[in-house]
Amino acid sequence: MRKISRRTFIHNFGVGVGATSVMASLPSFIALPENPSETYDGVKLNIALCGLGRYADYLAKGLEVSKYCRLAGIVTGTPSKALDWGKKYSIPEKNRYNYQNFDEIIHNKDIDLVYVVLPNAMHKEFVIRAAKAGKHVIVEKPMAVTASDCEEMIAACEKAGVQLAVGYRLHFEPYNLEMMRLGQEKVFGQVRLVETSLGYNTGDTIDWHLKRSLSGGGPLVNLGIYCVQASRYLLGEEPISVTAQFGPITNKVKFAEVEESITWQLNFPSGAVSNSSTSYSCGVDRLFASADEGFFELSPAISYGPFRGRTSNGEMNFPEINQQQTQMDAIGKILLENKKLPSHITGAEGLKDVKILEAIYEAAKTGKKVSLV
Ligand code: NAD
Repeated sequence: MRKISRRTFIHNFGVGVGATSVMASLPSFIALPENPSETYDGVKLNIALCGLGRYADYLAKGLEVSKYCRLAGIVTGTPSKALDWGKKYSIPEKNRYNYQNFDEIIHNKDIDLVYVVLPNAMHKEFVIRAAKAGKHVIVEKPMAVTASDCEEMIAACEKAGVQLAVGYRLHFEPYNLEMMRLGQEKVFGQVRLVETSLGYNTGDTIDWHLKRSLSGGGPLVNLGIYCVQASRYLLGEEPISVTAQFGPITNKVKFAEVEESITWQLNFPSGAVSNSSTSYSCGVDRLFASADEGFFELSPAISYGPFRGRTSNGEMNFPEINQQQTQMDAIGKILLENKKLPSHITGAEGLKDVKILEAIYEAAKTGKKVSLV
């Protein structure tokens, strides 16, 4: 779990375009780490995106403006995408792979890291193959579809001597960093209640997210994982038990394999309770905390922003950042300096979340409180 301190907040505070215009409104505990207009002429971390779907588009845009990373390679099963992306991002043919010849990347010194952005059930295979090829790896959330898969991925990366990160972009986002600080440093006293929910009305969209063999579950694994994360990083504690309830299925054809919605309660050692819902049929995006001496909240809180936040003392006001750029720059800088990634974004953190997701499903299925200790 990420423990926030003034130092980590300052270190991780990514500064995006337009930051200077709002500097005056930044709270005093934030010192900007670098001059945003300062250029970097050093070596960049060469990243290959594996899976060129919707989120890979966001990552590619982040990489275009990244200071420490560049998009150097692609892995795709669709030849036309290899051509289009190759042309658009000037990726030489020797750095374009498909799922069959991917292991050849072991011979490619121009790729330092593989970023796995495939359907969830494919994460394990491609993380392990990337590690065996000697590449560092970032894998998207959820890290994998089972905790035992996460353990295998961690072991494979350790054996290969490469580092493994989970794409937890909100660990570098100023509004969420502020929620961590307010909660963990008990700025408004002990937090008693956290409410955090994320849901989208997915309409008629039918894709792999509704197929259990590829997704591993419904909105809980896709969206609810952010709420589990937010509860944990706001409180700086690990949950000790969970209760959960599936919501009704309103469309039996669409939701034949995965849940449509689910609500759960996490109990923490301090006595704090976190209540969350996630759904593919209703829109919600918020993180709220009630403490002994006040409240603090974000809404929107988890999506790509812009975020809005307020506390019982007034509005929050932070710069809007490019989340993907900020995340990759933070990871890229650490890897370029041959340092270890902080534990709050590594595979160990991804494993903790997947274990909690499994316990939430068990609690919803059995109707019983499930212990997490
Ligand atoms: P997507 O469906 O848009 O893209 C998936 C890619 O995988 C496509 O290029 C598709 O061609 C490829 N693919 C290969 N084999 C496939 C198969 N058997 N079935 C379906 N697609 C296959 O999905 P996405 O939204 O980009 O999600 C990819 C990953 O990124 C997921 O793990 C998701 O949870 C994660 N994600 C993270 C964020 C975030 O904010 N961090 C946002 C969206 C998605």
